[in-house]
Amino acid sequence: MTAMLKAVPGTNDIFAQAKEYPFREPVFRYIIQTAEEVLRGAGAQMIHTPIFEYLEVLQKGVGLTSDIVVKKEMYILEDRGGRVLGLRPEPTASIVRAYNQHGMKVWPQPVRLFTWGPIFRAERHQKGRYKQFHQVDYEALGLSDPLLDAEAIALMVRIYKTLGLKNLEVKLGSVGDPEDRTRYNLYLRELFRPHAERLSEDSRVRLEANPMRILDSKSEQDQQIVAELQVKPMLEFLGDASRSFHERVCQYLTQLGIAFTVDPSIVRGLDYYVRTAWEVHHAQIGAKSALGGGGRYDGLSEMLGGPQVPGVGFGIGIERVAIALEQEGVAIPPDPSPTLYLAPLDEAAKIEALALAEQLRPKVYVELGYTPKSPRKALEEALKKGARYVGFLGEGERARGVITLKHLESGEQTELEPLQLHSLFEGPDPK
Ligand code: AMP
Repeated sequence: MTAMLKAVPGTNDIFAQAKEYPFREPVFRYIIQTAEEVLRGAGAQMIHTPIFEYLEVLQKGVGLTSDIVVKKEMYILEDRGGRVLGLRPEPTASIVRAYNQHGMKVWPQPVRLFTWGPIFRAERHQKGRYKQFHQVDYEALGLSDPLLDAEAIALMVRIYKTLGLKNLEVKLGSVGDPEDRTRYNLYLRELFRPHAERLSEDSRVRLEANPMRILDSKSEQDQQIVAELQVKPMLEFLGDASRSFHERVCQYLTQLGIAFTVDPSIVRGLDYYVRTAWEVHHAQIGAKSALGGGGRYDGLSEMLGGPQVPGVGFGIGIERVAIALEQEGVAIPPDPSPTLYLAPLDEAAKIEALALAEQLRPKVYVELGYTPKSPRKALEEALKKGARYVGFLGEGERARGVITLKHLESGEQTELEPLQLHSLFEGPDPK
């Protein structure tokens, strides 16, 4: 006998009764719908891009020295023509690729887009870190103005707050312009080189390729060396242009009344960030506390063979937000319960019940009792489902051309012809 096949560990089925909170569909939907309302309300347009792209798009998108590439976290596939594809490890590169491909540069700028969907990273899975997870993602493209950075942060915070989260911390940093980073990287290489042997294997690679990445290494050993060496933060290496940009983002956030701390340790995981970089953390979810992160990526489009297109955006980890909602005990709006539970009492009534349900739907939320059952059983089912009415269809009803309708709260029972039933449900909230 074949053993029952299961999903890949680190991937999850999302449905209403899922055991773990982050995978309960109503929670998931609440997060997506809330984010969608906030972002549409701010004039952003929804975009859906493919979940796989040519590997080149994705690799250039995250940068060759990012964890995603260095640690081989990308899922790579080959199609039948031998072309190498990857499953997206973040959505920004695909959105910038789409912006270029569809000539959005001639549209009024900025073009503000958002999406939500699955993201794939071949990481070691644990609570809060999965191989397939989901993000809401927002990007504002085509204008380099600190106002857009402040707006993106404000929108992200608004999404969390609208969801009902309280214990938020916005950590803002700047990774400077490429010239600033060259200077900073020189400084870091000189500082770390004498200690190279004590660094983790990954960080030894980073030391030459992109030493800034050592600063947010997850290895304790690396973190200890970083602390010992009292590394100067990137912020001290900002040039005039990136410094004044950073100061303006700070000033705008203050004017908007958004609490934040300047955190020089924010270097962000992806190579292509310039200037603004931020993360939003949640006090109660511990080590995996980042609910989302964002940043500016003015050089990305050119890396993808497009024109110069400045951009700023963020990604929100849906499962992480769900964990935070659970921690804070935020009540999720309950799904509606059926208005009518329609129960066939015999075989012949099954199709009649379905036909009636089809007439009443979608105006009336009707659930069917598919298998004929006794009125007592049907009543129990209706109560279990939280229905307002139970309707019985049996031999007697068929003969009289009616259905028996019972209001569950009052216990009142009447016989109604189908037309009367329609008019009963005519109003917005039939009692
Ligand atoms: P990143 O693109 O790595 O900055 O990720 C953005 C957000 O997605 C993070 O702040 C997390 O909330 C979430 N996230 C990142 N990686 C994972 C993962 N493996 N599993 C679940 N959520 C993740």
